[in-house]
Amino acid sequence: MSEKFQFMEEPLRERRERGELRELRQLQFMPNSRVLLQGKELINFSSNDYLGLAERPELRQRAEEYMQAYGAGVRASRLVTGNIQAYRTIEEKLARLKGSEAALLFNSGFQANVSLIPMFAGPNSLILMDRLIHNSMIQGALLSRAKLSRFRHNDLDHLQEQLEKAKEKGYDRILILAESVYSMDGDRADVAGLKTLSDRYEAILLIDEAHATGVLGPQGMGLASKMGVDLVMGTFGKGLGSFGAYLACSAKVREYLINYCSGLIYTTALPPQVLGSIEAALDLVPTLEEERKILADKAESFRREIQKIGLSPLDSSTQIVPVLLGESQRALDCANYLKERGYLAMAIRPPTVEEGKARLRIAFNLLHDQKAIDGLIEALRSFVEAS
Ligand SMILES: *Cc1c(COP(=O)(O)O)cnc(C)c1O
Repeated sequence: MSEKFQFMEEPLRERRERGELRELRQLQFMPNSRVLLQGKELINFSSNDYLGLAERPELRQRAEEYMQAYGAGVRASRLVTGNIQAYRTIEEKLARLKGSEAALLFNSGFQANVSLIPMFAGPNSLILMDRLIHNSMIQGALLSRAKLSRFRHNDLDHLQEQLEKAKEKGYDRILILAESVYSMDGDRADVAGLKTLSDRYEAILLIDEAHATGVLGPQGMGLASKMGVDLVMGTFGKGLGSFGAYLACSAKVREYLINYCSGLIYTTALPPQVLGSIEAALDLVPTLEEERKILADKAESFRREIQKIGLSPLDSSTQIVPVLLGESQRALDCANYLKERGYLAMAIRPPTVEEGKARLRIAFNLLHDQKAIDGLIEALRSFVEAS
């Protein structure tokens, strides 16, 4: 191997020796939240498609119609010639559903966070972020070159302490970053509390609703809907079964971003088929109130059952339920044990979560039937008894 790439050897060896080497595994989708992995059919408890929308004919059909009408791609960025009619329909619908003045689409959640955060904080600003926020927000915060500080997870007293201290420091802006539902713990933020604090200290609040959109809040449109939060972003790739991201904001912020946000200006617009499936998903989501209740009940009864066998779901109160296992090896063993029995659930290990807090992350969706959930609980019970 050429000397130029010598620097990769050490970090890769380190991963390999710790048994933490990541690999891309090929899999195939089967109906009803099942996947074919290494020749074995598994029930997928690691999918973010919480409402099962990725499989719905409504989304596929609209995607196909849009591709037939507009072509396979949009040929340019939105500011050049990529801004087809579907963008306007979707942004108006979103603003209405989120209760915001305006909305703006982005190509992905990662891209949205990375390109949005430097628009609101610069080298003379302070960013206060919850300890558990998603990597895409951390990358955006680093790019902004602002001073960064973390507050303890969901601890508004700690946040207030930091806001108080920041008062005399002469920052030009303070930006608070939080999620409404945390992806590894399945717990919720106190959105109203965050908003009150941000207003009191004149800080800008950005809330990421990647895991709440489609699932929680008014019409399933997220916990920060209709709350008057400054900036609310969310994604279409999880609960909406499609791809892409949005920001719900004021008309002024939208205008500012269209003029200055590189991640929007210098990138090809989303392809028509993606816009079609987003539009169809936004039509469906408000009608799924009953389904959301069923989903919440599944997760709630699972939490009760695993506590009976001595496993902790931490502070989960959503469709995402961590099953705390402790050491990395135990989490891996458990994931493998489940896999042998036909259930796919990812082991989440440090550094993604704290040392000693390795876990399985179980994500429920509407396509899991009671038999699958009972089977999963039974497998967890026999793992606990055998270990
Ligand atoms: C998945 C996720 C993102 C990234 O969204 P993509 O559309 O998948 O790029 C951003 N924030 C959070 C909290 C997420 O869970």
